[in-house]
Amino acid sequence: MADSFKNFIDGAWVEPSTGQYFENRNPARRSDLIGNFPRSSREDVDRAVAAAKAAFPDWSRTPAPARGDILRRVGDLLTARKDEIARAATREMGKTLQETRGDLQEGIDTAYYAGVEGRRLFGQTVPSELRNKWAMTYRRPIGVCGLITPFNFPLAIPTWKMFPALVCGNTVVIKPAEDTPHTVALLVEVLEEAGIPRGVVNLVHGLGEEVGAAIVEHPDIPVISFTGSTETGSIIAQTCGRMHKRLSLEMGGKNAQIVLADADLDLAIDGVLWGAFGTTGQRCTATSRLLLQDEIHDEFVARLMERARGLKLGYGLEKDVEVGPLIHEASLQKVEEYIEIGKGEATLAMGGERATGEGLDDGYFFQPTIFTDVKPGSRLATEEIFGPVLSVIRFKELDEAIRINNEVKYGLSSSLYTRDAVASFRAFQDLDNGITYVNAPTIGAEAHLPFGGVKQTGNGHREGGWEVYEFYSETKVCYLDYSGKLQRAQIDNYEASPY
Ligand code: NAD
Repeated sequence: MADSFKNFIDGAWVEPSTGQYFENRNPARRSDLIGNFPRSSREDVDRAVAAAKAAFPDWSRTPAPARGDILRRVGDLLTARKDEIARAATREMGKTLQETRGDLQEGIDTAYYAGVEGRRLFGQTVPSELRNKWAMTYRRPIGVCGLITPFNFPLAIPTWKMFPALVCGNTVVIKPAEDTPHTVALLVEVLEEAGIPRGVVNLVHGLGEEVGAAIVEHPDIPVISFTGSTETGSIIAQTCGRMHKRLSLEMGGKNAQIVLADADLDLAIDGVLWGAFGTTGQRCTATSRLLLQDEIHDEFVARLMERARGLKLGYGLEKDVEVGPLIHEASLQKVEEYIEIGKGEATLAMGGERATGEGLDDGYFFQPTIFTDVKPGSRLATEEIFGPVLSVIRFKELDEAIRINNEVKYGLSSSLYTRDAVASFRAFQDLDNGITYVNAPTIGAEAHLPFGGVKQTGNGHREGGWEVYEFYSETKVCYLDYSGKLQRAQIDNYEASPY
């Protein structure tokens, strides 16, 4: 009998009002039922928001350094439970243990960064234009934040949203992806153990169109932070626009690795293998396009295919496995549809089928796949596939590669392999992405730097680093006039001036 999990509302683990549950299964071993998770409703969201709203006055007045101290304890507890939670994450998400340990470490880094930020949360003090008057800003918390997260970084992405929201003095209601609810349940357990006060963090499991939509539409939630597909983000943005909500969107990508002829090719091959096939291509920053300069194209493709054929597929908890399964059947089918599209547009150089064989038949495994002769502008070259499918495009000059990189609707990350300093700075300047790497793959965010994309990848906000603290706080401007008389800005100080 599989375990039944609960929601966490107002400091207690509670059953959903619906009495309904959905199954969470291991994508590498479909017969392995991890547990039944609440299929909650609007009523559960209402209770969670009421709890978060009631907890807000006290939490928002708790000194930020004290809020940060709790986050530091969260970092310590996550460190102590790193292996256990990473194993649970691999079991429900499918990526290898090495990768889920990285996911956990990103959460730990985010916790310690948030802990320290509780002692900063800088405002600014600037001179007033009038005598005997003081002018400064400080950051105020906003209220209840609704957080909606995807499956692919089941621990790191929830922490990217939750920790800065909490340190800024907000309370939260989080709905994790229905494919990876267990990892977030474990994270909330850690927050509880670290002493987060009742009602400050609330977890409501459920489906996107039900619980996710109820969070987005809730009138007592002024802030929504969403990471997921561009399609879902667009639906959420419409509601938030209508309701005047503050909204952060982190969405899809179609990221390119560009390799110039002067590059260290071994390094570039290591980079693209990790970028394209790590996490089975299910990263927002996955390398899904490889742009190769003419002179090295054929040699590079041959060497890359040899290495890609050697990748070991399997259950991520097993030794030496390098590539796990896709997340579910619908994802496999989407990849298969793109294989058919690709066959009509380009050359299928390797892979292209479900992976079968020992240890693979009970999971959603797909062969690492490479298409060559991919035309810029084609569907393979422009649409997010979110699977282990790499599209190789040939180019002659750097200008052409930059143009190809930029002619997609997404703008998350890009990478350039070269030994040429001038080309590197051209890349920083001209590639239309939120993140550009030189001599490193398209993935590899660090917790203390801002993360996010341009164009239809995002809506101008960033997660991570210092910028996200601006998203979760409101700037208040404070003037104190101690002149003892009425001083009129823009009038009294200029009346005597000839200018
Ligand atoms: P998804 O959009 O299907 O789901 C994301 C979350 O939204 C889930 O919790 C889901 O339940 C919820 N949701 C679905 N419909 C909803 C609705 N109508 N209202 C409210 N919530 C709803 O995405 P996914 O398949 O879980 O994740 C993959 C996508 O996420 C890819 O496009 C990937 O590029 C993107 N992603 C982006 C980033 C980034 O930082 N830019 C990071 C990771 C993933």
